Amino acid sequence: MTTTPTWTTPATEAPDTAPPKALKIEREDHKLEKRLCREVGRAIVDYNMIEEGDKVMVCVSGGKDSYAMLDILLKLQARAPIKFELIAVNLDQKQPGFPDHILPEYLGQLGVPFHIETQDTYSIVKKVIPEGKTMCSLCSRLRRGILYRVAGELGATKIALGHHRDDMLQTLLLNMFFGAKLKGMPPKLVSDNGEHVVIRPLAYVAEKDLTRWAQVREFPIIPCTLCGSQENLQRKQVGNMLREWEKKFPGRVENMATALQNVVPSHLMDRGLHDFAGLKATGVPDEDGDKAFDDEPLPTAPSLPEKQVISLVQEA
Ligand code: SF4
Repeated sequence: MTTTPTWTTPATEAPDTAPPKALKIEREDHKLEKRLCREVGRAIVDYNMIEEGDKVMVCVSGGKDSYAMLDILLKLQARAPIKFELIAVNLDQKQPGFPDHILPEYLGQLGVPFHIETQDTYSIVKKVIPEGKTMCSLCSRLRRGILYRVAGELGATKIALGHHRDDMLQTLLLNMFFGAKLKGMPPKLVSDNGEHVVIRPLAYVAEKDLTRWAQVREFPIIPCTLCGSQENLQRKQVGNMLREWEKKFPGRVENMATALQNVVPSHLMDRGLHDFAGLKATGVPDEDGDKAFDDEPLPTAPSLPEKQVISLVQEA
């Protein structure tokens, strides 16, 4: 009997021949692989990120997230019910000390089609930005423009970026704290020049899973500090805060990520999203309506995380 392939068909079973401790680690890693494939597959399906015939340009920087994205997309490509192409693209920005042999060697071994675009944006940024000022804004603007152009030249129909769940939550909080906006990082969007569809297949994936997967797969990580620019301090602080929360209150970060998919405009304050001015009593009872005089009952702390931890851990 033949089975219909799906985005989330489990990977091949791990061999059962290793000694107990190694076997346990192998089983954990196998569960992790299944979880990564399942979460990426789920995000792709939920947001219709990849369609039949797509040519997906996978942006690979040499960091753990983009390596993992490419790795999982290749696994899914082999078992997906639709046909699509992947092409890995790296932009060599000529940062001093950038080991430009690592990615071509790695991608060549993988056997995935790839393109290395070499553009010395580093010199431009150094020339334009005064010493001591942060270079990231101009650097990423230049990078964005180049990647859009390359996507057009390669005939890519989608551009895949390696942002994960925790990046998206950090962006949400940073936009609230510093931009006074309830605005996150979308899983799929049209590029600012209007010409490309950008997707984030790792939208449901926790960063700690990517960190572990990078160790399991021994990705040849290229350090991201080569340009000498300082990491975004605020983003780092928010990231630390989320990690602390997750340690102290398991399930909280997962809940926040789920909340992004369960927005209730009538219970926020954006007059553009809900017609507060025209609101009238309907005379019709509504169980889901606002119980104006009562506090909303919250799920008790132990039950909610436990439920979620189970749903995350029961992979086998
Ligand atoms: S850290 Fe360096 S390479 Fe990255 S965006 Fe900033 S300036 Fe560019």
